[in-house]
Amino acid sequence: MKRKFIKFLLPIVGLAVLFFAGLYWPLQDLKVPIKHGTILIKSVTVIDVVSGALIENQDIIIKGNRITEIGMSDSINSSNDAFVIDGLGKFVIPGLWDMHTHSNQHSEWLHHPLYIANGVTGIRDMSGQLNEKDSYWVGSKERLHWNTELNNNERITPRYVLQSSYQIDGSSSVPENFPDFFKLEKDEHVDSLLSFYKNEKVDFIKVYQQIQPNIYKKLALAAPKYKLHLAGHKPMFVSLKDAILLGQRSFEHGRIFMFESFPKADSLRNPKNWKALFSKFKKSMIEDFNPEIAIKLMTLMKENNAYWTPTLQTLKFEAFAHKSTFIDNPNLKYITSIRKNIWWGIDVKNNKKKNLSEEGNGLSTDFYNAAKKQIKMAKDIGVPIMTGTDVTDSYTFAGFSIHNELEDLTKSGLSNLETLQSATIIPAKFVGKEKEYGTIENGKIADLIILNKNPLENIVHSKTINGVVMNGTYYDSDKLNELKNFTQSISSSFHMNIKVFYSLISSPLVRVQFAD
Ligand SMILES: [Zn+2]
Repeated sequence: MKRKFIKFLLPIVGLAVLFFAGLYWPLQDLKVPIKHGTILIKSVTVIDVVSGALIENQDIIIKGNRITEIGMSDSINSSNDAFVIDGLGKFVIPGLWDMHTHSNQHSEWLHHPLYIANGVTGIRDMSGQLNEKDSYWVGSKERLHWNTELNNNERITPRYVLQSSYQIDGSSSVPENFPDFFKLEKDEHVDSLLSFYKNEKVDFIKVYQQIQPNIYKKLALAAPKYKLHLAGHKPMFVSLKDAILLGQRSFEHGRIFMFESFPKADSLRNPKNWKALFSKFKKSMIEDFNPEIAIKLMTLMKENNAYWTPTLQTLKFEAFAHKSTFIDNPNLKYITSIRKNIWWGIDVKNNKKKNLSEEGNGLSTDFYNAAKKQIKMAKDIGVPIMTGTDVTDSYTFAGFSIHNELEDLTKSGLSNLETLQSATIIPAKFVGKEKEYGTIENGKIADLIILNKNPLENIVHSKTINGVVMNGTYYDSDKLNELKNFTQSISSSFHMNIKVFYSLISSPLVRVQFAD
């Protein structure tokens, strides 16, 4: 009897030991490159992302984290001990900003190295926390800490350019045992929520899709008193027109005009069954699209200085989920098995089924193509468009996906220059920091990419990265490869997968988000 019991117990104990070993297995650190006192990039072509001019044969001097001088090669004096980068035949552009991402507690190993390796030097993280540190999602505390370490040259990370609240969506998105004010069920909750996030050094309230119109309005009107703004989804039950007029500063995803510009747009704002109606009306949104309505809304967006982040990569995934050429992506080697097989796996299966069904055949592809046409319309009217990827959604890859989004924006009808602007100067303006970022100019922060080929000739040349300067620190091509290899190796490790799994199942925020 005793022996039987031990036989039964052994494998359980073994598994538990394995599990805890994985959970507490120490994570290795990535070494930040040495910061040179002075860097001289010699004889390089500077791309002016405002005018599109190519300024050839330039020397750029970087001291600390700033560009301190730019001029014709050999016309400026650099100190003799400057670290010299040969820029002959190469091109310099500002670091790219991904304006829609989701970081988590594992981003320093799984995402940050890939962002830097791909020239993404700034990100706007669109998720956050309530009043407790979450096991999975990060909040302003973690992100601001990372920013400080970046400035001290102690951490490899893009800069977190704005701080987001948790996704505010009414009662359904708030787990039990958190303060009631997060649910925004009463008028007085509005001020409690805004002052809470102001104290947390948050910059904007991320609004989500099910927030009720009356409370959304109160939130929008009160936010400026706290120097906060609203950004995120167009709430389903609020018209785009009202949301623009109430001052929401950025609208996310490719569907915003589709929701508004078809005959049944009003019934989609029905709080009870909007999800079912959305599927039912998807076809009509494309076929019965009324450009006049869309043009009015786009004009209103431009007049009110509201920005659009279409995140085409998410619609592209839905459109191509049934194609093995799309699904067998070589970048999957950077993704943990937990995410690949569980989270993304389920998503692939569902979308594939939809795409191969009789009524769903071609529908997601049409939707993706319709969004691209609307990007062109919005651009022609003058709506500021920002590049965003929605990392870590299905088949979006930290760093890599921004180059796909750039390519898709040109396929939508933006010029190569306009596309570069959507990831550089336009986001810098959105954040109100165009004096510090967004172009290669004297006095600006030295976040830049050295490219082998000219992206104004062909936008795919944005991938020909030779080196990256991040906050004045130089990453050569060997270092950039090391960053990619680091994430590849850690994402396939047993211990990282255990850590991700445990943090997901321990997060009350993840539980309500999945239940929704
Ligand atoms: Zn998102």
